[in-house]
Amino acid sequence: MTPMAAATIKKRTVQSLTNLDGKRVLVRVDYNVPIDKQTGKVTDDTRLRASLPTLEFLLQKKAKLILMSHLGRPKGQVNPKYSLKPVVEPLGKLLKLPVQFSDDCIGPKAKEAVAKLKPGGVLLLENLRFHPEEEANDPGFGKELASLADYYVEDAFGSVHRAHASTAQVPSLLQSAAGFLLEKELNFLQKVKSDPARPYMVILGGAKVSDKLGVVKAMVNQANTIFIGGAMAYTFLKAQGHDVGDSLFEADQIDLAKEILGEAKAKNVSFLLPVDNKIVENLENPGGVKTTDGIDIPQGWKGVDIGAKTIDLLKPKIKEAKSIFWNGPAGIFEVKEFSQGTMEIAKLLADAARQGAMVVVGGGDSVAAVGKAGVSKDMTFISTGGGASLEFLEGQDLPGVSALPNAN
Ligand code: AMP
Repeated sequence: MTPMAAATIKKRTVQSLTNLDGKRVLVRVDYNVPIDKQTGKVTDDTRLRASLPTLEFLLQKKAKLILMSHLGRPKGQVNPKYSLKPVVEPLGKLLKLPVQFSDDCIGPKAKEAVAKLKPGGVLLLENLRFHPEEEANDPGFGKELASLADYYVEDAFGSVHRAHASTAQVPSLLQSAAGFLLEKELNFLQKVKSDPARPYMVILGGAKVSDKLGVVKAMVNQANTIFIGGAMAYTFLKAQGHDVGDSLFEADQIDLAKEILGEAKAKNVSFLLPVDNKIVENLENPGGVKTTDGIDIPQGWKGVDIGAKTIDLLKPKIKEAKSIFWNGPAGIFEVKEFSQGTMEIAKLLADAARQGAMVVVGGGDSVAAVGKAGVSKDMTFISTGGGASLEFLEGQDLPGVSALPNAN
């Protein structure tokens, strides 16, 4: 089976699970949420809210819910900084139920906590990545997790592109199904991938070309228009022979960038790059930002955002597009002085969505930018998984999806 075919097959969904009354259901959720260093509180509960439809459905069926997730990168070590404990309170408020917590996701502590669960009760397990076996996709660890429950539900779309024990091992050991969030994500992305209304425009940005080269390559075969912003653009500009000064770029990706530019030309894809750039001499002094007249960036200066001429170039392209996918900021948008390009893109996409275009946004930074610009509600769909949505569109196999049984 080709990876693409695997991703398009319909999976068994949580609605098809029967006899849930009093049964233990292990749900892989994505609670990799931002936590304030000072207060220790969850600062954005989007991912908690996204999990509610599946949890509420299972609670109505009087199942015993056991929730498991990773948070951050504790690298196989117990580290309080990455504890899931801060999730207990906001999740309890959203569910209007007390949420129990187990200090370990496997072993006697987890087993004891599960044994105490009543039908309609909720238990959150501590960070899966406190055990190195999770990311190593260890079968024994998968068995330990599976031993806690009768059923497994995969609803962590943001993690399905990883072959980890909780996503790739457990589903084959229990009766398994996809949750509502996973189903919704796959349906939307499938629509964008297989049958986008045209023109189809893809906007990519962020720091590293090497992370997104696969998707840029795939998009040359799928999209009508591609715009690359952010530091990624400087590798492509360098490939075209432009000066990028001291901007971030990847010298070892230049040949590949040239190849992609050639392919885009041969396939008649409109491949857009910045035509002007916001630049600074010193990142610590954002007030010293200037805009280049043309594309080239002088020595000693770094590109930090796209300029007004580039935004003008994008306007008609965004306006005419009927489907748009966006991943990655157009500049160092965390700094106000360098955020204008990213904010403008967010607003232009919101306008396009209001005019009827299908606009899908994925990736933590672009989703945050859309929130900052106050236009989240306007977008057709906001994906909870950056890496997973890119890999899906690229046509890669998603191990956490492939591991689920097909629908009848
Ligand atoms: P990524 O994880 O690859 O999507 O990259 C996101 C990061 O790219 C954000 O933290 C941005 O600050 C950063 N970024 C975007 N544009 C630039 C730029 N011109 N120079 C340096 N970093 C950038």
